[in-house]
Amino acid sequence: MDLLNKKITVLGGLLSGVASAKLIKKLGGIPFVSDSGSSEKLFEFVKQLEVEGIEFETGKHSNRVFDCEFIIVSPGVPSNSDVILQAIEKNIKIITEVEFATRFCKGTIISITGANGKTTTTTLTGHVFNHCGLKTYLAGNIGEPLADMVLDVKENEFVALETSSFQLDYIDEFKPKISAILNITPDHLNRYEYKFENYIKAKYKIFQNQDAGDFTILNADNEPTARKDLNIKSKVIYFSLDKDMPNGVSLSNGEIFYKENGEVKFSCAVADLSLRGEHNIANCMAVIAFAKICGADNQKIIEALGSFKGVEHRLEFVREIEGVKYINDSKATNVDSVWYALRTFDEPIFLILGGLDKGNDYNQIKDLVLSKAKKVYAIGKSADKVFDFFHSDVKVEIKKTLEECVVSANSEAREGDVVLLSPACASFDMFNGYEDRGRVFKEAVSKL
Ligand code: ADP
Repeated sequence: MDLLNKKITVLGGLLSGVASAKLIKKLGGIPFVSDSGSSEKLFEFVKQLEVEGIEFETGKHSNRVFDCEFIIVSPGVPSNSDVILQAIEKNIKIITEVEFATRFCKGTIISITGANGKTTTTTLTGHVFNHCGLKTYLAGNIGEPLADMVLDVKENEFVALETSSFQLDYIDEFKPKISAILNITPDHLNRYEYKFENYIKAKYKIFQNQDAGDFTILNADNEPTARKDLNIKSKVIYFSLDKDMPNGVSLSNGEIFYKENGEVKFSCAVADLSLRGEHNIANCMAVIAFAKICGADNQKIIEALGSFKGVEHRLEFVREIEGVKYINDSKATNVDSVWYALRTFDEPIFLILGGLDKGNDYNQIKDLVLSKAKKVYAIGKSADKVFDFFHSDVKVEIKKTLEECVVSANSEAREGDVVLLSPACASFDMFNGYEDRGRVFKEAVSKL
C-alpha cells in the first residue's frame, strides 16, 4: 500500500489513533486526527501529536475529516455516530488500526479472538514462542497498538494479536496466517442489537479472507465455533476437552495430545501446566496448536507452559492468610468466566459478585454457586439483582464497598476456604475499570 502524500483521517485520538497517525507519517502519508473529546481529556496524546507535527482537531469532527483516501476508526467511535454515517454516505472506506497496520507486517500474524481468554492466550503465546526461540510481539487489544511496532517485525518473527470484535466488525482485507476463535458466548451484546447471532457473525470475520495456506483454530466444545457449515477455506484445527481430535488438540486421562492425521506429534500432562482451571487447559491447547504449526520444539513448549506466571486480574492468586486463599479475578466481567472460575476450585468459596450488569443471566452459574459458595457478597449497581436471584438458596449479603467484602470474608472464612472476586460485571459503577477494581481488592487483602 503506497501512502506517499495520501491524506488519511484517523478518528479517535487515543492510543491506537495516535499510533496509526505516526505510522502514516512514517510511511510518507499525511495524517489528520479528529477526536470529539476535549483536548484536556486527550492531553497526553495531543502532546504526542504536537511533537510529531501531526495535524489534529479536538472537540468536534469537522468536514476536513472527509477530505481523505480512507478513514481509520478507533474503538471508542460508535458505528452509528454521525461522522461514521456521513463517511459511509460519501463512500469513504473505513478500516481499523489493526486492519491498517497488518498491511505493513512482514512477520506471521496469529490473530486471537473469543468472548473470553483472549488476553491470557495472547500473553501465553508470546511466552511460549519466545521461550522456543521464535521472536514474538504482543499487540492489539492487549494494550500495545500493532501500528507502533509493525515496522520492526521481521519476516521470520511473529505477532500474537489480541483481536476484539470491534476490530473484526470493520474487517476488509485482514488475513492472518493463523486465526483462532477461543469461544463465543454472550457478551457485549449491546453492540449487536442484543442479537447473539450478530455477535457470532462478527467473530467469524476473522477467517473470512484466509485461504488454503492459512490455519484456523476453533473450539470443538463450543456450539458457535464447532459448526460444520462455516465455509472456512483455511486448514481447520480443533481443540477439545472432551472429544478426540485426530487433527487437533485433545485431552485424555490427564494428558494433552496434538495429533496430525491421528498421529501424536506432541503430548504433555495437564499437571505440567502452570495455569489452573479447565478454561486454561483450553487456552493452552490453542497455544499448543499455534506452536506446532510454527515448528516449535516440543520440550521447549512444555517448559514454557509450566513456567507461565498468568496474567494479572485473571484468577490471580493474591495471598493466603491462615489457610484462606484470596483470588483476584476482577477481569471476569461476564457470567461465563465466573462459571469457569467456580469450577476451578474444589474449596468452599466466598464469592464477590456484582457491578455494572450487561444483561446477565445468573441461571448459568446457579447450580455451581449453590454447590460451591458458602456465601455471596453482592456489590455495586447490580447488588439487588444478585441478592434477589440467589438469596433464597445461599447466604447473600449486600456490601457498600469491596473493602467491606474483604474484611467480612476475612472474619467469616475458615482454613481451606477461598475468597474469590469474580464479579460477572463491568466495574465502571464503582471503579475506573477492572484493573482498578482488582487493585482495590489486592490492597484490601494486603491490609488484612
Ligand atoms: P479476554 O481478554 O477475552 O477478556 P482474559 O484472558 O482477560 O480474556 O480473561 C477474562 C476472564 O475470563 C478471566 O476471568 C479469566 O479467568 C476468564 N477466562 C480466561 N480464559 C477463558 C476461557 N477460555 N473461557 C472462559 N473464561 C476464560
